[in-house]
Amino acid sequence: MIDPRLYTVAVHAGTEPDPRTGAVMTPIYQTSTFVQEAPGQHKGWDYSRGTNPSRDALEAALAGIETAQHAIAFASGLAAEQAIVQNLAPGDHVLVCNDVYGGTGRLFRTVMGRFGIEFEFADLSDVDRARAAMRPNTRMVWIETPTNPTLQILDIAALSDIAHAAGAVAVVDNTFASPLFQSPLALGADIVVHSTTKYIGGHSDLVGGAVMTNDAEWAGKIRYLQFAAGAVSGPIESFLLHRSIKSLAVRMAQHDANAMAVAEFLDGHPKVRRTFYPGLPGHPGHELARRQMSGFSGIVSCEIDGDFAATTRFVKALEVFALAESLGGVESLVNHPETMTHASVPEPLRAELGIGPSLLRFSVGIEYVQDLVDDLARALETI
Ligand SMILES: *Cc1c(COP(=O)(O)O)cnc(C)c1O
Repeated sequence: MIDPRLYTVAVHAGTEPDPRTGAVMTPIYQTSTFVQEAPGQHKGWDYSRGTNPSRDALEAALAGIETAQHAIAFASGLAAEQAIVQNLAPGDHVLVCNDVYGGTGRLFRTVMGRFGIEFEFADLSDVDRARAAMRPNTRMVWIETPTNPTLQILDIAALSDIAHAAGAVAVVDNTFASPLFQSPLALGADIVVHSTTKYIGGHSDLVGGAVMTNDAEWAGKIRYLQFAAGAVSGPIESFLLHRSIKSLAVRMAQHDANAMAVAEFLDGHPKVRRTFYPGLPGHPGHELARRQMSGFSGIVSCEIDGDFAATTRFVKALEVFALAESLGGVESLVNHPETMTHASVPEPLRAELGIGPSLLRFSVGIEYVQDLVDDLARALETI
């Protein structure tokens, strides 16, 4: 269950009535620059790559919902991730969970890897293996949980301890859980990253990212990097995200309840081979998820009992679920990881992770749950 206090935090954090007009919502400060009274004398804002009042308000709201001291809002989730790893240096080693978001793997393998940073991908669900993989030059452990698309659960507290024992920092991609169902900083992680494009945005109408931390030194380094390199959240996106945060708690509660019902329907359906949802007692990460999460969030995956042609027929027969990439919006989506979100994952790794032709990932929206279940039931008839 969501900490009830977060319903209030989500509505109010970062929102102060506008001092000039009394406007209840922080206006969209669509400006690049700010007038100065004398050289170097201004009201705290000089250029919008540095700071902008719309972004400041968003960052206060983001810090509020993640219960973090610092939040930095980026132009995308990957821009936020890049700003974190750009603080590393050639020769540094990063231990990364092997089923990270496809774009994260691509950023690490094909872009940041060219700068002499070594990214090692390993199965971090095995804590002993993670400990054994630490090296003297390991500076960072990169954790994503629940993972995508098979919804593995990684032990944030144990992996953070392993990172700290080796003098490394633990970073958690908290996108799938949202700040309302998982608090990595409270579990010992140092840095949290979100693609705010997903649940925090929640309406499939913007791209954004955020970094949250209680570590003032890391916050300063990441903010400096953002200022130096420029991947900031613009005023309009900042405003939209800030508005979205106000309804985050009610949305997440509904995503969670609907996903549980969808998972229970799929689990054991004769046309479904396997259902992946951490809320199901048979899920291998269920007990750990119950310990470290306060809800199981809204993503459900399953394997259709049929080949690619049958899976395609099923997907085309769906009327409420739309076939699209991305997740976390109010509307229900279905994704075919092998050909869509995970097409860039190297084929041997895809096979190892169980991403085959019959696997589907559902982002369960906030519609009337019976309409979702009826849609799935109808489409399963085509198999
Ligand atoms: C979408 C996503 C990202 C990347 O974020 P963008 O906003 O698309 O740049 C990173 N991690 C996870 C888990 C995601 O789902």
